[in-house]
Amino acid sequence: MGTEREAELLNRVPDGLYIDGTWQPGTGEPIIVTDPATGRELKRIANAGVADGGRALDAAVAAGPAWAATAPRVRAEILRRAFDLLQERREDFALLMTIEMGKPLAEARAEVGYGGEFLRWFSEEAVRINGRYGPAPEGTGQMVVSQRPVGPCLLITPWNFPLAMATRKIAPALAAGCTVVIKPAELTPLTTLFFAQLLEDAGVPAGVVNVITTSESAEVSAPLIADPRLRKLSFTGSTGVGRALLRQAAEGVLRTSMELGGNAPFLVFADADLDRAVDGAMLAKFRNIGQACTAANRFIVHASVAEDFARRLVARVEALRIGRGTEPDVTIGPLVNDAAVANTEKLVSDALDRGATLLTGGFRPEGPGSFYAPTVLTDVAADSDLLRQEIFGPVVGIVTFTEEDEAIRLANDTEYGLISYVFTENIARGQRMIAGLDTGMMGLNTGLVSNAAAPFGGVKQSGLGREGGLEGIHEYLSPKYTLIPAS
Ligand code: NAD
Repeated sequence: MGTEREAELLNRVPDGLYIDGTWQPGTGEPIIVTDPATGRELKRIANAGVADGGRALDAAVAAGPAWAATAPRVRAEILRRAFDLLQERREDFALLMTIEMGKPLAEARAEVGYGGEFLRWFSEEAVRINGRYGPAPEGTGQMVVSQRPVGPCLLITPWNFPLAMATRKIAPALAAGCTVVIKPAELTPLTTLFFAQLLEDAGVPAGVVNVITTSESAEVSAPLIADPRLRKLSFTGSTGVGRALLRQAAEGVLRTSMELGGNAPFLVFADADLDRAVDGAMLAKFRNIGQACTAANRFIVHASVAEDFARRLVARVEALRIGRGTEPDVTIGPLVNDAAVANTEKLVSDALDRGATLLTGGFRPEGPGSFYAPTVLTDVAADSDLLRQEIFGPVVGIVTFTEEDEAIRLANDTEYGLISYVFTENIARGQRMIAGLDTGMMGLNTGLVSNAAAPFGGVKQSGLGREGGLEGIHEYLSPKYTLIPAS
């Protein structure tokens, strides 16, 4: 049950829509936000309708010219203040994420660290928006390329990293001089509302960031995407929804960034350091209770080490502690809701029906909350849904290979291409994997790669565009080329 500290924190989280620098009521029935570890109601918040979404875009459009004209140094200093305030409020943000989403407190603290780095990184990038200048090849004049903010943006974020998915979009947009409307996931809106308050405290002017929380995401976002004043859509979520949004965005030829689903292969070669591979597997699979787009989804292990790898992994998995993320030493919190548990159960039973062997887990613990026991399966058949779909739960499925070519073929046999993990002590093999695996990112002997300074994103149906790194700000900039003829 919630403590006094939680009640006091929840009281400080705004419950309205944040439009044009003011907190406003919604028009629909309130959204009830619940704690997935207990099923208990946490808070009721405003539910935006179509007209509210329109007002949020009006505010972003009205604030656009002044924000674009604000000196980059001033924009940088506001983002830096937001970074500093987030450090001060770190414990509040961590606890809020744990209770609305379920991740263990230590992981929520790590997300505050990771999410905050986007504010710091893009505060530094705001003053390095450089163009180019050079002679036309024919010697007929000077070619000037400058960068301009794309304009008002709609940002749509998922529930699995409530803070980091917001900062990864808001920070580069603001650094570039864009104004935004952000629509967080209905399951975890509190972190974004609390963050909007922080941005106001950091000095973000009215209208530059607007937040709409809604249970009618499709109805509220469609007219915004169709509005010619909107110039950019940045979405993080499932590939299915991303595809539907791309179709809508095509109508207005809107700039888009799409951070979509993954089906990450986790390759363990015979020459891998197995201790390191098991450490990597624990991070890549069980961080966020398996609910990450970067989660290892298919364990492809050399036949000669598969048994040893599985045995060591099972020992580590059986030492995980399930519970509410606020309890000390808990390493596995609940899944985000009961539907997620049902989906995980279905994937495991399909794999077992097709001949997989259960080494540990495979059940839903008794009691309240949306829990599922960490699970390891081996001998998973190639046609199992567990290998074809994003699992989004704490389940390891192991398959074996004998030849390097076979490992590459298995790893690339998916429509997704977000990230791959490779464990080998052979440098030449590692380099062949960098060249051979069709993913936007790769962890070579590590199970965690995310970093604000790196371009995060995928190929194939894992998406379009990159967030973070030098690339991240360019998602929110348009180059403008001007020719100045020689007189
Ligand atoms: P989701 O696609 O169901 O929802 C994502 C967001 O889109 C939410 O805000 C939701 O309310 C909204 N939404 C849903 N349907 C919509 C519609 N028709 N129109 C407009 N908005 C709509 O995804 P989710 O379940 O919240 O998140 C999990 C998914 O996100 C997984 O597939 C995961 O891989 C992906 N993800 C990707 C990355 C990445 O960077 N590639 C990061 C985190 C999560």
